Amino acid sequence: MSNKQTNTDVILIGAGIMSATLGSLLKELVPDWGVTVFEKLANPGEESSNEWNNAGTGHAALCELNYTVEKSDGSIDISKAINVNEQFQVSRQFWSYLVKSNLIRDPQDFIMPLPHMSYVRGEQNVTFLKKRFEALSNNPLFQGMEFSDNPEQLMEWLPLMMKDRTFNEPIAATKIESGTDVNFGALTRMLFDHLKSNNVNIHYQHSVNKIKRTSDGLWELKVKNLSSGVVERHTAKFVFIGAGGGSLHLLQKTGIPEGKHVGGFPVSGLFMVCNNPEIVEQHHAKVYGKASVGAPPMSVPHLDTRFIDDKKSLLFGPFAGFSPKFLKTGSMFDLITSVKPNNVLTMLAAGVKEMSLTKYLIKQVMLSKEQRMEELREFVPNAKSEDWALVVAGQRVQVIKDTAKGGKGTLQFGTEVITAADGSVAALLGASPGASTAVSVMLEILERCFPQHIKEWEPKIKEMIPSYGLSLLENPELIDEIHTSTARALGLSESLDTAKDPVLVPSY
Ligand SMILES: Cc1cc2nc3c(=O)[nH]c(=O)nc-3n(C[C@H](O)[C@H](O)[C@H](O)COP(=O)(O)OP(=O)(O)OC[C@H]3O[C@@H](n4cnc5c(N)ncnc54)[C@H](O)[C@@H]3O)c2cc1C
Repeated sequence: MSNKQTNTDVILIGAGIMSATLGSLLKELVPDWGVTVFEKLANPGEESSNEWNNAGTGHAALCELNYTVEKSDGSIDISKAINVNEQFQVSRQFWSYLVKSNLIRDPQDFIMPLPHMSYVRGEQNVTFLKKRFEALSNNPLFQGMEFSDNPEQLMEWLPLMMKDRTFNEPIAATKIESGTDVNFGALTRMLFDHLKSNNVNIHYQHSVNKIKRTSDGLWELKVKNLSSGVVERHTAKFVFIGAGGGSLHLLQKTGIPEGKHVGGFPVSGLFMVCNNPEIVEQHHAKVYGKASVGAPPMSVPHLDTRFIDDKKSLLFGPFAGFSPKFLKTGSMFDLITSVKPNNVLTMLAAGVKEMSLTKYLIKQVMLSKEQRMEELREFVPNAKSEDWALVVAGQRVQVIKDTAKGGKGTLQFGTEVITAADGSVAALLGASPGASTAVSVMLEILERCFPQHIKEWEPKIKEMIPSYGLSLLENPELIDEIHTSTARALGLSESLDTAKDPVLVPSY
């Protein structure tokens, strides 16, 4: 044990997109606060935020069918889509502010314009997609959306997917030009470079092993320096647990009552990647399909153009699977050691309720490459096995908690922010919509943990995020202004040359 000890205002645990975002917001709002980061790996953005570990979709609900659910009366509920879209506009504004202020450079290194499309087959699904299009396309947040069930038009939009396809059932797609591909790994690295040059103390290869309250109300962390083996102690007034899959264990160590009766269920992921330039060139979009019956929402299949390492590639997936690890670099004991006396009943209840999900995930793990190719062929009929390789994606830890609606042990598919009553510690759990909504989620943490400062911070927040505190839907005049200014700042202007009115391409 060393006697190395430090005391600071803020400690951020984990160097993923969430800590990067919170640190960057704090540096603008209170530049003189001391901020220290501990990350157990050697570099920032190596876990879920890494470009190969997530799908890189700038989630704005432009194409993800699971954000628009069909209600029992047949109408489409678009409230979640609106919420996700508004959150993405907040991220775009903050990233634009960082670029315009020269705090980060070269936005094309982390965000690229890319059409977002939804694609369905079968009469029932086509009817659903058309209804979804009608519900969204007149909404100013989704302007420029097009729908088609015309094979000629589909061939033009999706040459790789329509080639060698027999149109023996109805097929339809929607397209919106203003979508994006986001390299969250590159963005995380850029933000950590920015934090480093702004006096944030960043310690890589430092694993936080314990967190406890001190008698004077601070939080004391026991941190292992993984290169020297030495255990250090560091204290702070405020701690953010942004450890991704590692957050639940650390939250449990704080002992705060808000962290009790909460569990985690890990879902692993695999993508298939194609680097054959001849094939890659035939596709230019993110195309989201519909999850098969019984599949969880995070396994909605999609075929995406990706821009990684200055190269275009295609990714298909994710294939969900089961592994007891909470991080890609985690331990096989993560799941079992997350079960505590206070959450065992919640976990057992979820185990009983989610038996079919567990069976589904285990079946997914057992799929052979050829069986995965068959799923890919639903998108690309003539896909050849030799053109596609498997890559292991990040782990997601879905939150399990007791809810009034779902009862004991209900599996959650969204993001959960847990804060102590006195605002001295906050943790982020859950996965979706994830990195795309990092800015909104971190603003929520600031509001919940620093209510005494938020009024004084508001003018600066509004300078960075002009729509802060306003609903874009209720202020439609702001939508055009924000779309235009953020597209310009982020180099996405091409995506603005889209039709403003919804387009229903005539059926054949
Ligand atoms: C398969 C998949 C696809 C996804 N697709 C998308 C998508 O298309 N769009 C989107 O917006 N989001 C997507 N997401 C979600 C998104 O990747 C995550 O929400 C986001 O990256 C989480 O960021 P984070 O900073 O919380 O966690 P991470 O990026 O995982 O960072 C946490 C960090 O904490 C470190 N850490 C853990 N424990 C400790 C400890 N004890 N001490 C010190 N450091 C520790 C880890 O090493 C890691 O670096 C996807 C996720 C997955 C898995």
